[in-house]
Amino acid sequence: MRILIYGGSFNPPHLGHIRSVQTAAAALAPDRTLLIPANFPPHKPLPEGTPVPLHRFAMTKLAAGEIPGCEASEIELCREGPSYTADTLRQLHEMYPGAELVFLMGTDMLLTVEGWYAPEVIMALARLAVFARETGREGEIETQAARLRERYGASVTVLAGQPVTVSSTEVRSLLPRRQGREYLTEDVYGYIIRHRLYGAKPELAWLRERAYVCLKPTRVEHVRGTEAMARALAERWGADPEDAAEAAILHDCTKKADRDGQLRICEKYDIIPDKWELENEELLHAKTGAAFAAAEFGAPGPIADAIRWHTTGRPDMTLLEQIVFLADAIEEHRKPYPALEAIRKAAFSDLDAAVELCARRTVEYVRSRGLPLHPDTARTREFYLKKLEDRGAAPIPWDGP
Ligand code: ATP
Repeated sequence: MRILIYGGSFNPPHLGHIRSVQTAAAALAPDRTLLIPANFPPHKPLPEGTPVPLHRFAMTKLAAGEIPGCEASEIELCREGPSYTADTLRQLHEMYPGAELVFLMGTDMLLTVEGWYAPEVIMALARLAVFARETGREGEIETQAARLRERYGASVTVLAGQPVTVSSTEVRSLLPRRQGREYLTEDVYGYIIRHRLYGAKPELAWLRERAYVCLKPTRVEHVRGTEAMARALAERWGADPEDAAEAAILHDCTKKADRDGQLRICEKYDIIPDKWELENEELLHAKTGAAFAAAEFGAPGPIADAIRWHTTGRPDMTLLEQIVFLADAIEEHRKPYPALEAIRKAAFSDLDAAVELCARRTVEYVRSRGLPLHPDTARTREFYLKKLEDRGAAPIPWDGP
């Protein structure tokens, strides 16, 4: 039996790792392939902000799922102290007596392996397979391979193939900038976003694709319009346009659900609907949307809160909450309603006045139709009216519906 072993921090596992294993598996036809995340990499301390081992293991499992016959092993995560490769190989040697162990590594590892703990044990217990991390270092690799053969009697196989030039360090630096998805598998990227590992923020094109599937097709236009308006307002008022876009993309993510569906989501996320929401389930999608966006897309607090309050508003909203509340009400595809143009204009000149008029219009509209008014909207209106008064500013005149 031949076992291909690939150790690393896998922090996170990327397409460079996957290409490497695929190339090795194609060349060596192993019976088993093990990806082994290190608990404490002895030569490369894990940087600050590294996710807990459970997350690195989960991501490694997802990456392994991309390669037939490949699995993630907890062998190093379960071991205390520095994760020495020599110890791992000894353990595997005992677990699989008679098996041929092949330890796969990239250029950097081959060039430094002599400085590892007990290199002679490593090279006695395993054959080394090397896959270059980048092109142009073939000479260096061959020289080092020859040296290891001569000095340790090592068996070294240099694998040929086109590398994916990327490192986990580079991926970690791209993720908070809404980049880096192209270096990860879909599952690993989705996992990172769901748990917001490494301070990751989702690429907006990726998020749109996934959020739009949750919408009725007729609602997509409204969500697009809300995103464009939220961005414009964020630019006008100095909020982060991409955070505003993210909240807008997700703001109606549970709106499609009917009453039963809404109640099921409430149950799943421990949401207790209030009596107004039970009377008018339309109101519930703000609460369920915030919970769903947080659980499925990892929406962080400020973004989840903007979704949470986009329907009723609340007193003293954050800038992002005000932006999403208004963008939803005034985006370009909204069917015309009497106060629409006045709110649109005010949204770019006086945010408090715009929020006050938007809430006032909802109060009047709901009352005129004999529907139950959620007190949060009344409170929002009162708060912003008082804020305008305190500033010595007049609310925008409007005759009512
Ligand atoms: P970091 O940037 O955090 O140092 P890394 O990208 O070097 O991480 P590791 O998990 O530390 O990845 O590496 C595990 C193994 O994968 C090592 O043998 C390393 O040489 C190899 N490796 C990493 N990136 C590539 C790549 N792009 N192509 C081929 N092999 C790679």
